[in-house]
Formats: sequence, C-alpha cells, structure tokens
Amino acid sequence: MKPILALVGRPNVGKSTLFNRLTRSRDALVADFPGLTRDRQYGEARVGDRDLVLIDTGGLGAASDDVEAGMEDQAWQAVDEADGVIFLVDGRDGLSAGDQAVATGLRERGVPVTLVVNKGEGLPREATAAEFYALGLGEPRVISAAHGQGVVSAVEAALPPE
Ligand code: GDP
Ligand code: MG
Repeated sequence: MKPILALVGRPNVGKSTLFNRLTRSRDALVADFPGLTRDRQYGEARVGDRDLVLIDTGGLGAASDDVEAGMEDQAWQAVDEADGVIFLVDGRDGLSAGDQAVATGLRERGVPVTLVVNKGEGLPREATAAEFYALGLGEPRVISAAHGQGVVSAVEAALPPE
C-alpha cells in the first residue's frame, strides 16, 4: 500500500497549490480509491523514490456556517484515513487562532504531523519559522509551494518510514 498523506490547514494557506505541484504530472485523480468523495481530492505523487497518495482538503479552523463545518468534517475524515499529515500554515500571515485550533484537533487524533510554513520565498527562514514553534508540533519547515522550494524534503519528512 502506498502511504497516504493528508494536506490540512486553514483556507488559503496553499494546500491546493502544493497538491497540484506534487500531482501535476501524475494521473490527477485516484478514481478507485476507497472512500473517494468530491470534498476530499485524492492524487498520486512520486517524491524522491517514494510513491504516495495525497489528499487535498477544503480547509480547517475557519468554519463560520454549517456548510463550512461540513467541509471541516470531510477534512478530519481525510486525517483519519491518512498515515501522516502535512499541516500547512502561512508564513506571511503568521500564527493565527485558526492554526491553534487545527493543531489542537491534530494532537487529539494522535496522527503524525509535519508542520510546514508555506509562502516562504524571499522570507528569512529562521525568523519565519520561529513563531510556529508555539504550536508544539516540532520544527516548522519553511517552503514555497508556488516556487517549489523545500517541497521535496518537507514531503519526505512527512512520509512514514519504508
Ligand atoms: P488553499 O486554500 O490552502 O488550497 O490555498 P491555495 O493553494 O488555493 O492558495 C491560496 C493563495 O495562496 C493563492 O493565491 C496562491 O497562489 C497563494 N500561494 C500558494 N502557495 C504560495 C507560495 O508558496 N507563495 C505565495 N506567495 N503564495 C502562494
Ligand atoms: Mg484548496
């Protein structure tokens, strides 16, 4: 079985940009994947020498109505299906209450989490990472999904051991 990684985080942090970058050259959708739904997008990727399945989700930590709450339920279902989670935060927005809420939910589930700070192009790496240590999820890895910086090593860090 290929390992499954879920991409989670607040809306607009760059989850779909990362998903598209990693799955672009692959068959975009995993049609026969069990549990496939429209609200969780599945894609195959190859990173380094590892094949994996990625799940893009609609966003967590910001629901303000029932529809959004339903999308959040879908995202948590993706987390429950996954072998590991890439928790994406926005290095330009900085740490937010929504990020804290996502971190709490991830900790409750006990899933392995790799904390990844996106939109890091042109930002000082250590200073950008620094405030996200407060999430208590280990070392934040700074990437740019849009520019492809740091993406491979961040995904490799999130994969379970072979
Ligand atoms: P999602 O809601 O988490 O799926 O976020 P999207 O992938 O739709 O991206 C939200 C916005 O952030 C879009 O305008 C993207 O172009 C932008 N974005 C994504 N990745 C980066 C990045 O690495 N750097 C910058 N500067 N913007 C990015
Ligand atoms: Mg998206």
